[in-house]
Amino acid sequence: MLTSKLALNGGSPVIKVKFPRYNSIGKEELIAATAVIESGVLSKFIGAWNSDFYGGSKVQEFERNCEQYFNVRNAVTVNSWTSGLICAVGALEIEPGDEIIVSPWTMSATATSILHWNAIPVFADIEDITYGLDPVSIEKNITQYTKAIISVDIFGHSAKMTEICKIAKKYNLKVISDCAQSPGAIYNNSFAGTLGDIGGFSLNYHKHIHTGEGGILVTNNDEYAERMRLIRNHAEAVVGDMPNNRLINMLGYNFRMGEIEAAIGIEQLKKLNSFLKSRQSAAKYLTEKLSIIPGLKLPYVEKNCTHAYYAYPMQIDCKILGVTRDKLHSALVAEGLNISNRYQNIHLLPLFQNKIAYGSKGFPWNSEFTKREVSYQKGICPTAEYLQDNSFMSIGMCFTEMSKSEIDLIAECFYKVWANLDDLR
Ligand SMILES: *Cc1c(COP(=O)(O)O)cnc(C)c1O
Repeated sequence: MLTSKLALNGGSPVIKVKFPRYNSIGKEELIAATAVIESGVLSKFIGAWNSDFYGGSKVQEFERNCEQYFNVRNAVTVNSWTSGLICAVGALEIEPGDEIIVSPWTMSATATSILHWNAIPVFADIEDITYGLDPVSIEKNITQYTKAIISVDIFGHSAKMTEICKIAKKYNLKVISDCAQSPGAIYNNSFAGTLGDIGGFSLNYHKHIHTGEGGILVTNNDEYAERMRLIRNHAEAVVGDMPNNRLINMLGYNFRMGEIEAAIGIEQLKKLNSFLKSRQSAAKYLTEKLSIIPGLKLPYVEKNCTHAYYAYPMQIDCKILGVTRDKLHSALVAEGLNISNRYQNIHLLPLFQNKIAYGSKGFPWNSEFTKREVSYQKGICPTAEYLQDNSFMSIGMCFTEMSKSEIDLIAECFYKVWANLDDLR
């Protein structure tokens, strides 16, 4: 088997049948959603200052449950985590032209949430252990205009939050944690998302727990929470009737979650621990199987931390192996393995390369509030770019519930390709 001909060269692939997509939605969600439909109240939000301003009973129940689960003072639901990021940046009272340091290894919305407030994203590099923001690079990118950091727990392991929060404190910056891929992950005995000023999670179909679309913001700061609730629900029409509120960034949206999604969210949250457990034990078994392979760096889990394994990240040492990452990747894909050979460097998107966002004239980079030219050239994030171009691979773990026999097959693909490296050189 091991020395049999690579599928890339016409041999028979190891994996012949695609693994089934796993469905996290069950009877509990069906019953909960049905009850909401039968009630006829699919949303109770109203964009005016009265008792329905904070949403219906399911929305509020889901928020209280999230507060309890994540051990935070405030949870605020939204209709997507993209909306959540926009609320978070706005709630920090960011001004046009302010700079916010952000990771290039993330989903585009992390960076565009900054542009939504006419502030300027500054990309710092990642470190190649957690794939989160590199504290050294953060510090290098701080200027007199920097106001906040958006840290991303990419693939499910928390970024180095102790160091990041220390830097934030030193320079008086706020920290937002994008934990879309790390709900329930632990960092130094706290939940990911609860270590900075504001954190949160995505509830889209591709994430650990989902409501179709949705998001949850978490914060221990009551003032930020209230401003996020305002931005969620037509702030401009409400803020005047509220006691003690400032007008800054009180340009609201409709980012409200419906009652059906909230009812589903309540059931999904109950299942989060068991979903995490199954991914963690699958990843542990996969690591056992792959640790004997040379030139392959496996996921790292820091002390007093847990990994949520949204994905299983790896790095190839092409110098040791004498084969390029892309050649190895093609060989693994040919064996039937669903493995990716890239992530994304957001700073290289056409939006940033051309600095075209609002209209055609370069706003907000050329506005009178923007005091400094920020570079998005290739080369500003060398580690992120090297990993992308040469060494990174990952296996998605959120879409399938991997059985032992499936993991055996995944490992078999690696064993077979590594036994035939000469054919790829
Ligand atoms: C999924 C994701 C988002 C966006 O979440 P939505 O709920 O789809 O808006 C943002 N950041 C990261 C890291 C994500 O994985």
